[in-house]
Formats: sequence, structure tokens, C-alpha cells
Amino acid sequence: MANKDFMKRNSHVILTSHSNQIFKEVVPIHWGESDPHQRGPVIATLSEKENRNAIGSHGGSYTVYRALSIAAGTFDVSHKPDLENTEPTNIIKPGPSWFDPEKIVSLDPWGAHVSEVFKDYIDKKVNVQPTIAVTQARLSIPEIHKSIDEGRLSIDGKVVFDTKDIKVTKVAIDPVWYLPSIAKRFNLEEGELRRVLYQETGGMFPELVTRPDLKVLLPPIGSSTAYIFGDINDLSNPDVELTCRVHDECNGSDVFGSDICTCRPYLTYGIEDAARTAQRGGVGIVIYFRKEGRALGEVTKFLVYNARKRQEGGDSASTYFERTECVAGVQDARFQEFMPDALHYFNIKKIDNLHSMSNMKYDAIVKSGIEVKNRISIPNELIPEDALVEMEAKKAAGYFTEDKVKSDAKLRKVQGRKLEE
Ligand SMILES: [Zn+2]
Repeated sequence: MANKDFMKRNSHVILTSHSNQIFKEVVPIHWGESDPHQRGPVIATLSEKENRNAIGSHGGSYTVYRALSIAAGTFDVSHKPDLENTEPTNIIKPGPSWFDPEKIVSLDPWGAHVSEVFKDYIDKKVNVQPTIAVTQARLSIPEIHKSIDEGRLSIDGKVVFDTKDIKVTKVAIDPVWYLPSIAKRFNLEEGELRRVLYQETGGMFPELVTRPDLKVLLPPIGSSTAYIFGDINDLSNPDVELTCRVHDECNGSDVFGSDICTCRPYLTYGIEDAARTAQRGGVGIVIYFRKEGRALGEVTKFLVYNARKRQEGGDSASTYFERTECVAGVQDARFQEFMPDALHYFNIKKIDNLHSMSNMKYDAIVKSGIEVKNRISIPNELIPEDALVEMEAKKAAGYFTEDKVKSDAKLRKVQGRKLEE
């Protein structure tokens, strides 16, 4: 057996409230400072604990897999990422939103450019890691091929190639939370927020309560990805037409084509329209948030499907939200309050065409200071039959639509398929 000593950090656990663990010389973070050096790098490395100025660790929800790799002896804990050639393919220019400590609270706007702006730290062997990555890709999507075949989208050789693929810039964003401003956004005391986060994760990060001097948390949750159609720097130019879809993950529909909801058709329609906007000189952005099942998770979601379909009278638009609340305790846990941060990262000031029927999303965007000109609902012909229950329930609950809202009696008549069918 190989000597695995270098894989071990320490054989015993040291409580983070221990005075030895408080390092007075850590680099302070002044969230929102316009000079990145004044702002300071987010250092969440576990390889040199003395440098840490953040709670949690890199990798979002994958941090637990990393721990497993270390436990299994397949990951060297002293590994520092070699960042050569990893720099962004496109520079996202800093803008006013970056310099307001309350505008962006759930991601680090400098996260893509750390190897450049914090080069001096990295040269001194401080383990500063990117939390955002920017690259280029092509999308090949059956629904897009169909829309080209049907003449709704054309091949221009710039945005849409003759292979029917679409050119995009992809931006992956890991969560970085600045706790004082997050507390403010929820009208909470910071201490109260930290206590509840600590308690309700089963005590996962003791530093939330023992280290009030550390203000930044890298939470073990999913990331977000922005897909940009056209010139990324046009996003911040209010004179350029902008089409936007903010999409919350729905694995069953998005990936597997499950027909109980409208998620995938709405997503691909958003991509189609974003590409079309880029073709006429505008810019499109689709942001994908890993918030499966209204951030309640897929197990809860499938339980709700069964409860909906087995209830007396069958699955009906009139009881759609009620069933979710019965199982999950809440209708929706997505809290769209953080979602606009990703828009502010690109310094978006106005959206011409917002592809969303959700008032929670619309209200969060407008409240954050972004103007929304038009709201675009999913075309009726794209709604799968079994998804009519969801769609009619949402419209009746006040979701945005150009259609007339159905009466209670009519809502009861909008029925989904039975489980055995
Ligand atoms: Zn869905």
C-alpha cells in the first residue's frame, strides 16, 4: 500500500472556534470595492488554512465528492490547480453593478479573472481559484433543427451554421455568498441568517457561528450557467435588443423529455428566440439555474406528481399548487431574490423580451433595477398535453399570460393523465 500520508490533512478534528484557528492576518474582503485589490481575493483553499478568508470550499455541490476522493486516497490534498490556458475566452468588463455591495450578493464578479487580477497572490503561492469560467461552444438541439426546417430560424453562418448548430459563449458560475448583503436582501439580521444556515444543514459549517469575521460563504449547492448568443459585451449596452430566459432546472423535462411540464419546450423556444435576436443585431442570454423541482429536489417533485395524480378527482389544475404545499410544506422554495445577480454580473440594464411567465422572476428582476419591456409566454402549440394542468394552474395563480384566465369550474376540468396511462 502506498504511503497516503500526503493525502491526509490532520488526523484529528480541530474545532473552528479554537483560538489557533483565527488568523488575524487573513486578507480582508471588502465586498463591492471597485479596485479588485481593495476588494480582495476570495480564498477558500483548504490546503493552507491560514490563508482562508471564506467559509466552505470550492466546487459547490461537488465539494462532497472531492472529500470522498481524498478519503479514498485518490486525490492529493496539496494539489493546486494549474491555471495555464484556462483564462476566459471573452472578457466580461467590470461595470457599476460590480461595485455596489448589495447589487450582486451570490456570486463573485471577479471570479472569472482571478488568475489575472490576483496574479500577485497566485505568484506568492496563495491558492486563489476561479469561481467562474467562460468558454465557447456549439449547440446541436433537435427542436432548433426543426425550427430551421420550418423556417422560423435561418442559417446565417454567424450565429447559426449550415450544420444547424448554434454558436454560443458559455459561462459557468459557482455560488459565492456575501452573507451581510444576503441577510439584508431577506430583511434578516446577519447573525440570525448564519445561525439558521448552520442549524438547518445539520451543523455543516461551524464557522457560520464561530467566525463572524468571515463574511463570505461558498455554499455546497448547484451552480448556474449562462448561454450567450451574439456579442457578450452587448449585454450591457441598453441600445442593443436583448432577449432573455431565466430557467430553473427540470431534469425530467429538460434532459429526458418528460411531458408533465413545459420546461424543455420553453427552454428550447427561449434558445431559438435568443439566437434569432442575435441574428438581427441583438443579443440573447439563457441562464440555467440548478434549482431542481422549485429548489425542493427531484424526490419531492416525484412525490408531488404521485399525490397529484392519485388524489380524488385526479390531477387537476385547480389543486396543482395545493398538492405541492401538502408534500413539501411550501409551494416554491426557489427564492428568485438571487437570480438577478447573474444578470447584474453582465451589467444588464434592460431586457426587451423576457421569456418567463413567472411573476416571482419578473418581480425580482424589476425590483433589482432592470427594466423589462415585453414578457413572452410559451406559444400554446408547444405545450405538451399532460402539462396543461401546470400551465392552467399557473395562469390562474397570476402567472403572466396573454390568454384569458379560466374560471374555477373550468380549471377543475383541466385534467392530467392518470398514473397507469
Ligand atoms: Zn419541468
